[in-house]
Amino acid sequence: MDVELARVWARDEGVRSLTGRVLLADGQVVEASSADLHSYALAEEPGGPREVVLVVDRPSLGLRCEHHAVRYPGSLAEYWQVVRNTGDRPVILRRVESGRVLLRRSVRDVMYFRGGWGLEFEPARERLGESFELVQTRGRSSNGLHPWVALLGPTRSFSAAVAWSGNWALRIHRREDAVELTGGLVDFDPACELLPGAELVAPSLVVVEGDGRDLNSISIQYGRVGRLHWYPHNDLSNLLPVEWNHWWPYEDRHINEEVFRRNVDVAAEMGFEVCTLDAGWFGPDDPSAHWYDYRGDWHMVNRTRFPHGIRALADYVHSRGMRFGIWCEIEAVGQRASLAQAHPEYLATRGGQPLGYACFGCPEVRRWALATLDGLVREHGADWIKLDFNLDPGLGCDRTDHGHGAGDGLYAHYRGYYGVLDELRRRHPHVLLEGCSSGGLRIDLELLRHLHTVFLSDPDWPEHDLQLFWGATTMLHPSACLHWGWSEWITEHRRQTFDPRDPMLSPHKLDYAVGVGMLGGFGLSHRLPDLPRWVRERITALIALYKTHVRRFVREGELRRLTRQPRRFGKGARWAAFQYSLPEDEHLLMVFRLDRSEPTVRLRLRGLMEEGDYLVRRLWPPTDRESVTAGSELSRDGIFFYDLQPEDMRVLHLQRL
Ligand SMILES: [Zn+2]
Repeated sequence: MDVELARVWARDEGVRSLTGRVLLADGQVVEASSADLHSYALAEEPGGPREVVLVVDRPSLGLRCEHHAVRYPGSLAEYWQVVRNTGDRPVILRRVESGRVLLRRSVRDVMYFRGGWGLEFEPARERLGESFELVQTRGRSSNGLHPWVALLGPTRSFSAAVAWSGNWALRIHRREDAVELTGGLVDFDPACELLPGAELVAPSLVVVEGDGRDLNSISIQYGRVGRLHWYPHNDLSNLLPVEWNHWWPYEDRHINEEVFRRNVDVAAEMGFEVCTLDAGWFGPDDPSAHWYDYRGDWHMVNRTRFPHGIRALADYVHSRGMRFGIWCEIEAVGQRASLAQAHPEYLATRGGQPLGYACFGCPEVRRWALATLDGLVREHGADWIKLDFNLDPGLGCDRTDHGHGAGDGLYAHYRGYYGVLDELRRRHPHVLLEGCSSGGLRIDLELLRHLHTVFLSDPDWPEHDLQLFWGATTMLHPSACLHWGWSEWITEHRRQTFDPRDPMLSPHKLDYAVGVGMLGGFGLSHRLPDLPRWVRERITALIALYKTHVRRFVREGELRRLTRQPRRFGKGARWAAFQYSLPEDEHLLMVFRLDRSEPTVRLRLRGLMEEGDYLVRRLWPPTDRESVTAGSELSRDGIFFYDLQPEDMRVLHLQRL
């Protein structure tokens, strides 16, 4: 192998890269060696990523494997493999590894996140034994487990993520000399039949190296590369608009044209910038129709609730100077949806049983989905589409009349879904696309190459919000994370008890309830016309704070978590602090005191110039006072917080003089 090429591929420091393997159904393992190398290419942008492609031919097996590695400035690299059938008979694949790396043997602990509905980003940490694996088989990337792992050592730490929205695997083995990590798609079941001329593009395995201090040196790299190279952007997504969404206080049965319009009027006065019509707008003209049953009937508008149609509502929102958002679960097919009768051939099935979604591996389905989404923009006037997905596809569709095989139906579905999103963005570049999946059950780096932002979770009580944001930002830039302040729920949830009309509600608790939503993309789901006057005025002021000061840091800042992760139900850190830093040595500090906390905390800032002086201003609660403090003092002694109530918030701005 060429020396320069080998150097780029193999890397240095704590990560050595091997090529991913292919396991065939008959037990053969296809592993690249330099003797097999057919050709290679090296591409480099000045100051940007460098890509290496190694092409390995195995004519006796009818296989060509392209190994891709892209290294970004810093230590983040992504690896993937493209497998092509160059023979004249099918190749039967069991497993395709995206990449394989060797890490320092000194790593000791493995950290990862479990997840579930309303329970996303639950941390787990254990001592790394001889082997460890995380395997997702529910068909959604972050249901049960998040597609991310960290290996922590005393001086160096590493993280890996599989960029894929379906089933994935991360496997770790201790070897004599190193720790081996592989990742990619979960094994095909049944095996994948790769036909002559066909190719399979495995998802990216992302690997990052950081210092052993905490996860910030790793997550800053994930965030930077994501923001600069992966996530799509448009004017609306760059704005980080403040969203009002109708769902939690009204759900489907209590929303209608009149209720929505009354909220729009107040939203405009309060400074909201997007009003989103969630589920409840589609399906038959039946006041009792339940949204879940009619998913798929996007061509029908519930005229009982919306007698003048959706366009009239969008026009009304636009006339008040805001953007119009709409909810859709384009992949799903409800049990009563007429779509299922009209197009049974669209349905994903396994063993002949419908799985509850339309298979995007099928070209007809992709055409229908694209036309439907296109209609949401052209006919209904949507500027923002919230794309939900409320079911587990499991191992996916095994039909053989969709253009995919029995083993790669779920793979084909996600490739098809990504393609629809890409074409939708091409046709409507100004429209913001949001990914949601029963809240946060499909959060991964590949989905964020095809849509602009992901919703972190359905519930949003404050300690849950703080746990989520802490967890999500180990892999995502804050600008890609959408969540809301504490919503009012019409249904029962033991923690969703926020009542803005409670006479006992204090200003600091309102700040805390709303402010936790301002860490990333920000929204609220409240009954706006019924807010007490002081509550409405204070939320209006918080929205102004977000728009004037906070969101430019969310948009471009480097985020550091200054505390351990707060956790639901009284666990974890009981103070949470997040520092956002802009290149001009300007910083924003958002501090939250949770309940059951110590009364004071000292927070040491990071990344400041020790010899510089900083102007420190408190932005919330607003005050005219300001002080000048040395960078050395802010870094070593930190800032002492002693006057917060339990469940309270402070926002500080620091600028080097
Ligand atoms: Zn299918």
